[in-house]
Amino acid sequence: MHEQQGASVRELMAENAALRRQLASLIDQAESNHAIMMRHQAFDLDIVSASSFQELVATIFRQLPIIARLDIVTLSLVDTGADIFTVMHKLGVDFDALSNLLFHEHPEELGFALESDRASGRPPRPRLGPYHPVSHAAAFPAPPAGLASVALVPLLRNRRLIGSLNLGSRDPGRFTPLLGTDFVEHMGSIIAICLENVISNEMLKYIGLTDALTGVYNRRYMDRRLAEEIARARRQSYRVSCMYIDIDHFKQVNDTYGHQAGDDVLREVASRIKAELRMSDALGRFGGEEFVVLLIDADLESAGMVAQRIRASVSDRPFLLAEGQGLAVTVSIGVAMLDESGHGLAIEDAALELVAQADAALYRAKQNGRNQVVAA
Ligand code: GH3
Ligand code: MG
Ligand code: MG
Repeated sequence: MHEQQGASVRELMAENAALRRQLASLIDQAESNHAIMMRHQAFDLDIVSASSFQELVATIFRQLPIIARLDIVTLSLVDTGADIFTVMHKLGVDFDALSNLLFHEHPEELGFALESDRASGRPPRPRLGPYHPVSHAAAFPAPPAGLASVALVPLLRNRRLIGSLNLGSRDPGRFTPLLGTDFVEHMGSIIAICLENVISNEMLKYIGLTDALTGVYNRRYMDRRLAEEIARARRQSYRVSCMYIDIDHFKQVNDTYGHQAGDDVLREVASRIKAELRMSDALGRFGGEEFVVLLIDADLESAGMVAQRIRASVSDRPFLLAEGQGLAVTVSIGVAMLDESGHGLAIEDAALELVAQADAALYRAKQNGRNQVVAA
């Protein structure tokens, strides 16, 4: 009797100890899950609050490998016609800092079975499994050594494939075809929404800053940029120069060849000006057939030389009109340099003064017979 009781007590105690161990491990697991969840929530908040394309993509590349314990994260974007790339580039996105950002002309390049899915009406699903250097070359052009398993997560907006989030691990068991995909799908859907948001915001920003006809900056942007550059020039004491460019007898182009030909000439003049400028210079259309160029770190002499190059590149080659005729076009250019001897002017007044001086020089170029450069 006693012996029996003793045995069952020992059994109970052993069972109790095992249960406690199990409980402790469950608590550990729950705590670790909670920590992971908190990190993911913090990540979600960070990417939802990213205010620019650069910030969003940089946040994904910086945080996701850490919080999800991944060895590589890349992002493929469908960018037909390179619109996104072009606009982001013009808005100053530093692509060198985002080397894991990949652009693709066609959605088919992302490696999802689009045709069959389209037929069945089902959107593409995440693809989890072992890493294959050849079939995953597009998603991981520079894979880390030992990459073993990957997940390609489609980024969808309104059932349209806008890109793919590509996750890679050195752990072969990390992504397998049998694994549930809820988690990566959740991550993919948040990232897709954030991407679509920042991209459309940046596109709007870009449209608000550029001239629809020529693609160069508009006056609003140039006014703002001028103020920024003058403020910076005052802090760092370098030269800022300005060019006012006006097409000669442009009214005659419209009157003789029509408004459409006039528009073509405007576009071609803008592109010939642009070809003579440095990356740091800013070109804007101020209205009608007038362009303003802001030259950073350029004195009057070097600005004058650039102006001469622009004048020559417009007048040296005839413009080819749509009907095939060649048209001789010339421009007159006034150049001025920011005079900070006073330093007393408010930035807005200094900006107005600089443009007014270039405009006055342009007026003299017109009076002197056009197709020439005059420095203030
Ligand atoms: P000048 O050598 O003195 O500068 O003569 P101009 O004919 O170029 O000068 P004016 O300012 O008299 O004419 C500018 C013309 O530019 C008038 C207008 O028809 C034309 N213009 C303004 N905006 C546009 C545009 O967006 N497209 C086209 N095609 N023409 C435009
Ligand atoms: Mg004019
Ligand atoms: Mg003119």
